[in-house]
Amino acid sequence: MCIFCKIIAGEIPSSKVYEDDKILAFNDIEPQAPVHVIIIPKEHITSANAITPENSGVIAHIFETIPKIAKDLGIFDSGYRVVNNCGADGGQTVEHIHFHLTGGRQFGWPAG
Ligand code: 5GP
Ligand code: ZN
Repeated sequence: MCIFCKIIAGEIPSSKVYEDDKILAFNDIEPQAPVHVIIIPKEHITSANAITPENSGVIAHIFETIPKIAKDLGIFDSGYRVVNNCGADGGQTVEHIHFHLTGGRQFGWPAG
C-alpha cells in the first residue's frame, strides 16, 4: 500500500482538514507556505498520467471542493496556488496523485 493509501486507511496519522467519501485533504508534513494542504482521491491513481475518462470524476470533485477548503482555511479571498507534480521532472515523490493547495503568502511565477 502506498503512503497516501496508508493515510487514507488511518495506518499513518495525518492532520485532516477535509474528508468525504471520495477525497481526503490533510496538512503537508513539510509545509512550504502558511497554508499547505495535500488533497488526494481515496481511489489510488498513480499520477496525472493515469487520469482517464473513467476516473476523472474524482479529479473534478477535488477542484469543486478546493474553494470550500480555501474558505475554511481563510485563503479564499487572498488567493492560492494549486500544484500537481507529475513524474521525475515534475518533482513527484509520492506515487498517488495529489494536489498541493498552498496559500497565506505570495508565490512567484514562473515557478522554479
Ligand atoms: P510531491 O513532491 O510528490 O508533489 O509531494 C509530496 C508531498 O507529500 C510533500 O510535500 C511531502 O512533504 C508530503 N508528505 C510526504 N509524506 C507525508 C506524510 O507522511 N504525511 C504528510 N502529511 N505529508 C507527507
Ligand atoms: Zn495510494
